[in-house]
Amino acid sequence: MQQFHCPFCGPREQSEFTYLREVARFPALDADASAWHRYVYDRANPCGAHAEWWQHQHGCRQILSIVRDTFSHEVLDIRLARASQATA
Ligand SMILES: [Zn+2]
Repeated sequence: MQQFHCPFCGPREQSEFTYLREVARFPALDADASAWHRYVYDRANPCGAHAEWWQHQHGCRQILSIVRDTFSHEVLDIRLARASQATA
């Protein structure tokens, strides 16, 4: 089974984590319906590196930003989502 290295808890089985969604910015609050439709329903589905939000549901419950290769399942980067938001 794949492991994720939580910044707080260390290496843990993927089953402890819950996938939330791909990393994306919220549309402006006054954005039109098509912008919100794209945010809610459209997914990139790349073959390669993909930035995703996961929650360590059965651990520290932190939301993590994980860059994962969707072809090889290699984890390329893990950091706190709130830390990655500061640099996005
Ligand atoms: Zn954790």
